[in-house]
Amino acid sequence: MLRDSFGRVATDLRVSLTDKCNLRCTYCMPPEGLDWLPNAQLLTADEIVRLVTIGVERLGVTEVRYTGGEPLLRRELVEIVARTTALRPRPQVSLTTNGIGLSRLARPLAESGLDRVNVSLDTLDRDTFKRLAHRDRFADVVEGMAAAHDAGLRPVKVNTVLMRDVNDHEAVPLLRFCLDQGYELRFIEQMPLDAQHGWSRENMVTADEILDRLSAAFDLTPDDLEERGSAPAERFLVDGGPARVGVIGSVTRPFCGACDRVRLTADGQVRNCLFATEESDLKTPMRDGATDEELAARWTAAVARKRAGHGIDDPSFLQPSRPMSAIGG
Ligand code: SAM
Repeated sequence: MLRDSFGRVATDLRVSLTDKCNLRCTYCMPPEGLDWLPNAQLLTADEIVRLVTIGVERLGVTEVRYTGGEPLLRRELVEIVARTTALRPRPQVSLTTNGIGLSRLARPLAESGLDRVNVSLDTLDRDTFKRLAHRDRFADVVEGMAAAHDAGLRPVKVNTVLMRDVNDHEAVPLLRFCLDQGYELRFIEQMPLDAQHGWSRENMVTADEILDRLSAAFDLTPDDLEERGSAPAERFLVDGGPARVGVIGSVTRPFCGACDRVRLTADGQVRNCLFATEESDLKTPMRDGATDEELAARWTAAVARKRAGHGIDDPSFLQPSRPMSAIGG
C-alpha cells in the first residue's frame, strides 16, 4: 500500500498524459504557452500503462484519473484507457478535460470503459471564454460536454474556477445551466499554480463567497458531509435535491488530512501533492531496467515522505516551480 507517515493511504492516482494544452486559461499559463517537455522525456503509452498496472496490482490504487495538460491531445488516449479498464482489480477510470475534441472521442472513450469525465468550463459567455482561455473554443466545449452525456459518461462533472471581476458574476447562471443539462457543477478555488505567478489571495473568490452567491438564488443544504471521506468537494443539495453542487475550497478549506491522492507527471515523476516541491523519479530507473518490484518500492518510499499539508498558509510557502499544466491537475 502507498501509506504515508501520517497514516493516510493513497488510492487515487492522477496521471498527466501530456503537459501540452490547446487553451491558455489565465489562471494556468501565459498566452504564449510554455516550453513543453521534449517528446523523449514523455512517458510512452506502454510506460504509462506499466506504472499504472504496478499502482493497481501491487500498491492498492483503486481510482485512476487521466489529466494533463490536455489529455485529449494524447493520441493513444483511447488505448491507454482501454488497457487501464482491463486491469484487475478493475480501477475506476476518469478523465479531466477541457472538452475540446470530446464530441469525437466521447463514444470511443465510453466504449473503452471510461467511467466518468470532468469537463472544465468557467463561463457561459463566448467573449469571456475568449478573454479567459485566449482561444475561441466555447462552442466546442459545450458540444463536448453534451457528447459525453449522450455517450453515457454520466453525470458529467463540470469544474469551474471563478475569478474576481472576470466571471464571478456567473456562479448562479453556471449552476442553472448545469442543472438544466443534468451536469454536476463543482467550483474550485483558484490556487497559486499558474506559470506566471499571478495568483493573489485578494483576487481569489473564496468558497464562502461562492456559497453566498449561490444561496441568494438556491436553497443549499449540506449533503452527506459525514460521508465526504477523502472527496475534495463539499457537496450541497440544490433546492432539496437530488441535484447537487460542489465547492472545493482547496485554499480556505484545505482537506489535506483526508487526502488519498498521488500524482504521476507526464515525465514519470511521482508527486504527493499539487504543491509539493519534491518529486521522485520513476522514469529513469524504469528506462534503466528496474523491475516492477523495484519501481513499486521506490513509489512506496516516495509516498511515505508525503507532507502533512500543502502549507499555502505557512509563512515559508513557496509556489512549486512546475505549473499546474505540467503537474497534471
Ligand atoms: N486540460 C484539462 C482541463 O482543462 O480540465 C485538465 C488539466 S487542468 C490543469 C485541470 C483542472 O485544473 C481544470 O479544471 C482547471 O480549471 C483547473 N485549474 C488549473 N489551474 C488552476 C488553478 N490555478 N487553480 C485552480 N484550478 C486550476
